[in-house]
Amino acid sequence: MQMLHPFAGPIQRYFDEIADPDRYRPDHCPQCGAKHPLTGHGFYYRTLVDAAFDGVIRVRRYLCRSCKRTVSLLPEFVLPWLRFSISVIALFLVARLLKGLTLVAAVRAAGETVMPYQRGQFWIRRFQKQAPALSLALVPLETPGHPRDPVADFVSRTLRMLESIGWIVAHRFLFSQLRVHLLGWPACLIPTGRRTTLASECPAP
Ligand SMILES: [Zn+2]
Repeated sequence: MQMLHPFAGPIQRYFDEIADPDRYRPDHCPQCGAKHPLTGHGFYYRTLVDAAFDGVIRVRRYLCRSCKRTVSLLPEFVLPWLRFSISVIALFLVARLLKGLTLVAAVRAAGETVMPYQRGQFWIRRFQKQAPALSLALVPLETPGHPRDPVADFVSRTLRMLESIGWIVAHRFLFSQLRVHLLGWPACLIPTGRRTTLASECPAP
């Protein structure tokens, strides 16, 4: 399964921090509940595109000696199986769906110049499909008394909630507590809502 690496900061610092296997070593197994620290089990590699980074990052893996299953610590600025960072996706979705920018302008607003439009359209479709469920799931994180526009559609309402809560804070809550993916799980992965074992080799769309 994947757990979130509680990391906030520049990517370079992430590289430094994961070099030390003890730094975030889980002290118990989140899958079988065994009460012993997990054993370091190398890394897996995935691609990441962020405003200032385009390349491969390492994701640390641990092994439970009791159930023989692995746990990987995914940095919380990336979404499982998506290549682009949360901040790039967030900037794009807000520019396109909340501010009404054209696709071209929204891609630029996200700091990207070479991103294919199909990718942006894919994010939009996933987000539109996911918005009603997200706006409900995010209610516990809303500031009490936060003004809510009763006529806003789910997409605008959810985007405003994410902007006010913070996308990474929202992702951390959805993913670690509810096993909900910001843009929905692809068909090749087990659906939301229960403890899942994620195939890291699941092909990225
Ligand atoms: Zn275990």
